[in-house]
Amino acid sequence: MNLFTRAKKVIPGGVNSPVRAFGSVNMDPIFIKKAKGPFLYDVNSNKYIDYINSWGPVILGHGKKDLIEKAKKYLEDGITFGLATEEEVKLAQLITNATNTDMIRFVNSGTEATMSAIRLARGFTKRNKILKFEGCYHGHSDSLLVKSGSGALTFNSPTSEGVSRETIMHTIVARYNDINDVKEKIEEYKNDIACVIIEPVAANMGVVVPDESFIKDLRKITEENKILLIFDEVITGFRIRFGSVDKLFNVKADLYCFGKIIGGGLPVGAFAGRREIMQKLTPLGGVYQAGTLSGNPLAMKMGYDVLTYLKDHQEIYDKLDKNAEKLALGFEKNIKELGINAKVSKFHSILSLFFGIDSEIKSYDDVKNADNNMFEKYFKSMLKSGFMFAPSQYEAIFLSDAIDDSIIEETIRKNREALKSIN
Ligand SMILES: *Cc1c(COP(=O)(O)O)cnc(C)c1O
Repeated sequence: MNLFTRAKKVIPGGVNSPVRAFGSVNMDPIFIKKAKGPFLYDVNSNKYIDYINSWGPVILGHGKKDLIEKAKKYLEDGITFGLATEEEVKLAQLITNATNTDMIRFVNSGTEATMSAIRLARGFTKRNKILKFEGCYHGHSDSLLVKSGSGALTFNSPTSEGVSRETIMHTIVARYNDINDVKEKIEEYKNDIACVIIEPVAANMGVVVPDESFIKDLRKITEENKILLIFDEVITGFRIRFGSVDKLFNVKADLYCFGKIIGGGLPVGAFAGRREIMQKLTPLGGVYQAGTLSGNPLAMKMGYDVLTYLKDHQEIYDKLDKNAEKLALGFEKNIKELGINAKVSKFHSILSLFFGIDSEIKSYDDVKNADNNMFEKYFKSMLKSGFMFAPSQYEAIFLSDAIDDSIIEETIRKNREALKSIN
């Protein structure tokens, strides 16, 4: 029986995360068998250049030899104990030293990181409400699954069935990059807002870059109102640079969420911040948070190895930046010469290619009407040429250190052919 048919019988939609279903490009999922360096191989032995890179974690390319050799040895010492280990301490030291944080707690996913950070913010401030931005994704915990930014708070509706109105009653949604909208909402609810959570560089509505003044003003206004500022850096942390992107904006958040990269490909998330706030967590304080597999030694060791490698080879970030710049310029040249209505949106090494957008890209409103038919044709053409991009234009393109100059050039050539095929 066909693998997808088998999968659908036992897994809803045949996948364990909806984006893998390829629904937005009207295809069946592609089942991957293995990966090496910049390449993915599917179960039918097709080979692809990987621009998904597991949605961010795979920054060094797949299966880096010396790291894999080390990881094999780790298995022999035990995979999980459910008890404290030195490896947790080492990774905690590495991450807190590289960021504006004193303490960190490890969890198993980005979803857990943001969910726990919000509970902590509420516990610390003794306030109820949270403010998030339209188009920012913070995982799938109930109170963050809110879509509509328009209308009054009471008119917010959850993005998902199964989320009660009571749960999202305390979630306020504002427009990304629009400080006046934030000000109005804070003015209305300020004494009951525990935190503002934001992707400092949005990457889950495609890449949408913040104005520096927006981030700075957001810091100022939250501080003035004693609202905690949470940077959800599950994508950007340790991918854009070694540490947090806060340095690039010259601001400091109160709490930071990490994930994706920091586990070296294993399921790890974390939230971190000032000692005064983090000490409110159990067992020191009254904000409960726990996890059977949290900080498990295998994930901690692999995370530590990857982050240490990055720390010692920070030129990798320059290479990723340079290659992303090259891709963007190549795409833009093709777009212009072929007269296609498409736009590149980019921040350092993450970028997106949007189709059918005329406005400047500043918020979810600007990208939500992107042309899906054009994207579908483009995506399928690139896939046929052996390039695996995210099957949605609302996801970032991720590079890895394994993607070299010649691959970049080939990508730009095939991008031109694919763009031609749209017309
Ligand atoms: C991926 C992501 C999450 C959720 O992480 P999971 O590990 O998928 O639960 C949260 N926030 C941001 C910004 C993300 O990109």
